[in-house]
Amino acid sequence: MLPFKLVYSDAYYLPIGDHVFPAQKYGRIRERLIASGVAEADDFLEPEPASDQDILLVHKPEYVHKLTSGTLSPREEMEMEIPYSRDLVEAFWLAAGGSILAARRCLTDGVSISIGGGFHHAFPDHGEGFCMIHDVAVAIRRLQQDHAIRTAMTLDCDVHQGNGTAVIFAGNRSVSVPQPSVSGLRQTHTRPGRMRGGHAGDVFTISLHQHNNYPLWKPPSSIDVDLPDGMGDDDYLAWLDNALHTGLRQFKPDLLCYVAGADPYKEDQLGGLNLTIDGMKKRDELVFQVAHAERIPVMVTFAGGYAMSLEDTMTIHCNTVVAAKEMFTGAVSS
Ligand SMILES: [Zn+2]
Repeated sequence: MLPFKLVYSDAYYLPIGDHVFPAQKYGRIRERLIASGVAEADDFLEPEPASDQDILLVHKPEYVHKLTSGTLSPREEMEMEIPYSRDLVEAFWLAAGGSILAARRCLTDGVSISIGGGFHHAFPDHGEGFCMIHDVAVAIRRLQQDHAIRTAMTLDCDVHQGNGTAVIFAGNRSVSVPQPSVSGLRQTHTRPGRMRGGHAGDVFTISLHQHNNYPLWKPPSSIDVDLPDGMGDDDYLAWLDNALHTGLRQFKPDLLCYVAGADPYKEDQLGGLNLTIDGMKKRDELVFQVAHAERIPVMVTFAGGYAMSLEDTMTIHCNTVVAAKEMFTGAVSS
């Protein structure tokens, strides 16, 4: 039995047909977690879909109406890069409900992981990059409205920049300024990464991503770390450590939302970084160590992952659960 809850529903599956986004991964991850003994059936909670009111805490009424009435323009549907259907709308409302549930549960258990979600390319008025609804933003706004939290930090480690997150939580942020680097940080053999940052409102956003990748326009997060092509484990982990501690020196959140994309992996079809499976697990361990040490509840979503082998994508996501188990089981028994 895990000392925290996993949030999952069979209806997380996205009905998008044969697509580079492997929507079957959610169910397969659940199966593997149980088969490998990492989790038991009782560790999983089934979410309810978010309500339209929840969705409207983040998204514009006109956009929500287009989604619920099936009146997106062909251009809007093309930009989303997944085929619109009524069932797909329901799957995204459910993903948002799953993130709300995970965010609530982590406040009592220290951590909670939704085996889905992380749709960080959804904007208030449109969807793009396989993302219709920004489930993480909906969860943050819902918990704020419930007075369960006042502030939150998003930590986006998907290989693609969290453009929707940046825009949703931009608030009255000032222009980005370069952040000082931690001395002794090893630079890559090619070109150093770059960290930019600015003032945040009630939600502090951090994104570590490959610079030369989608989205072309990267609206400023509170901290953006633009990583060069081909960065490997050690440099990536150093930048992550730097960015997370820089953020936490400036901002103490009531909730950490970790977007644990599997696509920084070296064999990802849509990514150009060079992390190993072991490095990806160290990434998760670092995030959980810091959250635990700082006593910040952490909710996790899975976001992207397009490895040549679906088995690798599943291993990376399952390892996120293993890393949380190792960290938080020790915490309970000590
Ligand atoms: Zn991605």
